[in-house]
Amino acid sequence: MTTNFVHTFFPGRVVFGAGSLDQVAAEVELLGVRRVLVVATNSARDAADVVEVELKDRFAGRIDGVTQHVPTEVAENARAKAREIDADGLIAIGGGSAIGLAKAVALTRDLPIVAVPTTYAGSEMTPVWGETSGGSKTTGTDLKVLPRVVVYDAVLSQHLPLKVTAASVANALAHCVEAVWTPKADPITETTAVEGARALAAGLRKVRQDPTDIDARSNLLYGACLGGSALATAGTGLHHKLCHLLGGTYNLPHAETHAAVLPQVTRIKAPDVPQAKARLEAALGTNDLATGLYDLFADAGISTNLKDLGLTEDQADEAARTFQGAPLQLVKDILTRAWAGTRPEGATR
Ligand code: NAD
Repeated sequence: MTTNFVHTFFPGRVVFGAGSLDQVAAEVELLGVRRVLVVATNSARDAADVVEVELKDRFAGRIDGVTQHVPTEVAENARAKAREIDADGLIAIGGGSAIGLAKAVALTRDLPIVAVPTTYAGSEMTPVWGETSGGSKTTGTDLKVLPRVVVYDAVLSQHLPLKVTAASVANALAHCVEAVWTPKADPITETTAVEGARALAAGLRKVRQDPTDIDARSNLLYGACLGGSALATAGTGLHHKLCHLLGGTYNLPHAETHAAVLPQVTRIKAPDVPQAKARLEAALGTNDLATGLYDLFADAGISTNLKDLGLTEDQADEAARTFQGAPLQLVKDILTRAWAGTRPEGATR
């Protein structure tokens, strides 16, 4: 029996398919946007060149190169550029950093975004923005930053290096897994998250054998889309809050931090939601969710410990004592294991 729940669907249009970069200009036209500012990560310069040509006289300006975590000075420069060229819309091509910069502009100037993701971070499906100033990251939720159209083209991620791919998949899997136990979790989000996890795990296994396989890359983008949707509706829980603290305070890389922390938080939290745990285990092809995630990441060659990312044991202990959202002993247990990279066997409380 399905119990009572409340689920919010976010508006947005998804155009999915290898080669769909060619549809970006038509989507801009459909939105009625006349002067576009293109924001592109350096690795997507070629794609941005294509879009620039296809936009014809709707192209108004371009920002090449983005910085992780949207530093305020970078956001201010982008807003100034949007003002200067009188942009009435944005195209973001790249990973979470490029989409994050476009969101920072959309937040203050209320401009529609067409997002073209080239990693699996999933930001394109969420109304969440973030900006970093003086070493601390502020995040918020605002429908103004939710991209109006998302164009997924697997060709653009065909040459994403395997290490970046695997870490980005860990980020996307974190969205799927945590979405089943947050206070806002519901059956619709759970189904989205389980299907996302299935596509991500299958895509990662395949892409390790053949990094440019377009079906595997498509599977990963599909999983990223579902993971982002799950994050948007379920919000964040213990796992994301811990990663946020670690990333913000000790400047740890975003996606890799997820890979080290997720199996350890899963070991603690998944037993609270046995039905969802079983569904995710089936999706990943494992008989224990926490160890299944750990092994998936380790097999893909990503670090499953925080010490490799540069965190000291004292800092892990300090982070546990600083964290406010859960009992100290529980957080210490998670971070001690995540720091050392202990395989999460014996997943009971
Ligand atoms: P990123 O955008 O910095 O990209 C990671 C690296 O991959 C970069 O060096 C980039 O140049 C490279 N790259 C990207 N696409 C490539 C391609 N196709 N080929 C080769 N190289 C490529 O990092 P990310 O992990 O995508 O995103 C992380 C950021 O996104 C963080 O700031 C995080 O907070 C944010 N984020 C936000 C949300 C949200 O809902 N707001 C969700 C997830 C992540």
